[in-house]
Parts: sequence; structure tokens; C-alpha cells
Amino acid sequence: MKNIRLILLFIFLLATFSNAFTLRTNSIEHKTWNDSETLLKFLEQNSLPLKLYYNLDGEDKKIMHDINVGTTYYIAKDCSGGVYQAVIPLNEELEIHIYKSIENKYKLEIIPINYIQKTLKVKIKIDSSFIESVKKATNNYPLALNLHKILKDKVNFKRLSKGDEVGIIYKEKTWMNQKFGTQRVLATYFKHKKNKVYKFFYKGRYYDKRAHLRIKTSSFIVPCRYRRISSRFTRKRWHPILHIYRPHHGIDYANRVGTPIWATYNGVVTYAGWVRGYGRYIEIKHPNGYRSVYGHLSRIKVKSGQRVKTHQVIGLMGSSGMSTGPHLHFGIKVNGKWINPANKIVVVKNTQSKLRRKILKEVKKYKRILDRL
Ligand SMILES: [Zn+2]
Repeated sequence: MKNIRLILLFIFLLATFSNAFTLRTNSIEHKTWNDSETLLKFLEQNSLPLKLYYNLDGEDKKIMHDINVGTTYYIAKDCSGGVYQAVIPLNEELEIHIYKSIENKYKLEIIPINYIQKTLKVKIKIDSSFIESVKKATNNYPLALNLHKILKDKVNFKRLSKGDEVGIIYKEKTWMNQKFGTQRVLATYFKHKKNKVYKFFYKGRYYDKRAHLRIKTSSFIVPCRYRRISSRFTRKRWHPILHIYRPHHGIDYANRVGTPIWATYNGVVTYAGWVRGYGRYIEIKHPNGYRSVYGHLSRIKVKSGQRVKTHQVIGLMGSSGMSTGPHLHFGIKVNGKWINPANKIVVVKNTQSKLRRKILKEVKKYKRILDRL
């Protein structure tokens, strides 16, 4: 059902766009979202009705601040210079679409981005500079930067020698004919003299060929016992209650009402009270710019300003606020940006061997491809 809706939407967009190109449009402008830009300013500058912003609900207004500085967006104008439609990426998965409806009224909606993603593989001889060589071979600068970051703890890029090579399996993401968003490296090796190091991607982290992880010092823990994860972190989700697309900036852990909720790490409680949508809600500030949040609680057991330790009970699971059933909404922010908590929290011990077997299966699959490049 959802797929059919998406296909219809795609056809609709295609039709409106091609229509725009042939009949109604005078120009299509590419622009860059700068650091002082806000949606309100954008509407004002383009003579669009400000109520497109003011009519959004509180949560959607907040989401509008997620647009990244440097994002490329598009405005199509008709012969008289009026905006016919505008497309602004909100994150890697969703875009803001402003358009004139059949009744000649402006509308704003948040819809999935139709980007194109291809899996590619390549072997590259490194000449002088690592980043330059990768960029030249792939025509993908963000990929080169990302690869450098992934390998830099294993490779000394200042001491390269003739014959060094890198192999990559990666996903290239494009939108409107441009590289777009994360250029994900699925697997890579770097060969220096007779030495070959590998890195393999699995659920947000990079492992070596024995499926070992370089564990960093921080050790955020899973914040409760749970029966199942009812919703994962995503930058795109069909909201079950509101019936709109909205990112889900956290993980939902489902269990009984009254299940104890623990602080994921040492910190100071910065908020404990009611938040619209999230019900009874706690926010904790941790070192190094991290914050964690806990929503839909049935009871709060800490006060704002209180110090808490890892694993200390801070509240009980509930279904307060806008919720379809008892669960904990758990989120982590770094310097104000939401990240996927699954990439940060430590895996529970008893699942470790099971997880390792899964990772090793992936490693084997990709290593075979890399070794034949
Ligand atoms: Zn949630």
C-alpha cells in the first residue's frame, strides 16, 4: 500500500516537474542554504506565504532547523518570476516540497527524497596524495574524505610508497545528478608493501577482518530491559498516528509499564517534566557534548540539576504523551545533533557471540569481492 502511494507520488512529481520544464517554468535556480538562512527567511525572500511555516505544528517547526548549512536546493520560477515550486532537502531521507496546488494555493509537505543509490567497487593505485588519488578515480570527493577517516587509525598516510593500493566497495548516492549525502563505504582494504588492512561496515561501525571493533572509551548502556525494539532510529519514518513523514530521532524500547529506566551514562539531569508529544520526559547532560533523552515515562524519579550515575534508575516506563503503547523513547544528541544511539551504546554481553557470527558472515562476503578486485 505504502509502495503504491510512493510510486504515485513519484509519477506525480515527475509529471509536475516535466510540466514545469516545458510550460510554466522560466528558470530553475540551484542555491545553497547558508548559515543565517531559516525557512521563514526563505519564504519571505521568495514572496511565499509565511503561514506555510506558521501553520506547521510544533514538532515540524523544530524539524525545519535540521536543514544543513551548505545544502543545495532548487527553486523553479514561472515567467512572471513567481515561485512555482521549491525542493529543499531536510536531511538525507526527506525533503521539503513547496508547490502551487491546482487551486492556485501554496502548499508545503515533507516527503521522501527520490535519490539514486548504486553499489560500486574499485581498486585504486595511490600516487602522491591518498585523497587526490581516490577523488580522481571515483569522481567522488566526499567518498575520498570518508575513506580517509575510516582508514586513518590503521594507515600512516604520511608514509605512502610506490605500489600502495586501496580497494573499495561503496554506495554512491546521487540526487538531481549530484553526489548527495553519505557516501557509504561498505568494505575496504589498504595495501602498503606486503601489509594489507581491512575494514568492514556493519550497522554503523567498522570492524576488522576478525570482526573486532576498536572500542572507544565511552560506554553508554542500553537504558532498560526490553521485549522488542518497536521503532529504530531513522531520518525518514511514516508516523503511525499523524500519518505524515517525520524523522524518528531515537530508539523505542517496548516492555511493560513500570519497567525501570536507567541513565545510559554518568551525567547531570537538565530537564525532568512534561514535554508535549513525549509525555513525562528526562534529559541528561553527559561529558563531551553528549545528551540523552527518555520519553513517555509513567514516573520520573529524578529532579533537574541532580547528578546521576550509569545504570541508576531515573524513571519507569509508560505510555504518556503521544504513544501507541508502553515503550521508552530513547535519544542521543551530540552538540545539538541527533545521532543513532545504536552506534553509541555498548552491545549486551550475551548477544555478542551471536552478533559476531553475523558480522563474520558479512566480512567473508565482502572480503571475497575485495580480494578479487
Ligand atoms: Zn520514539
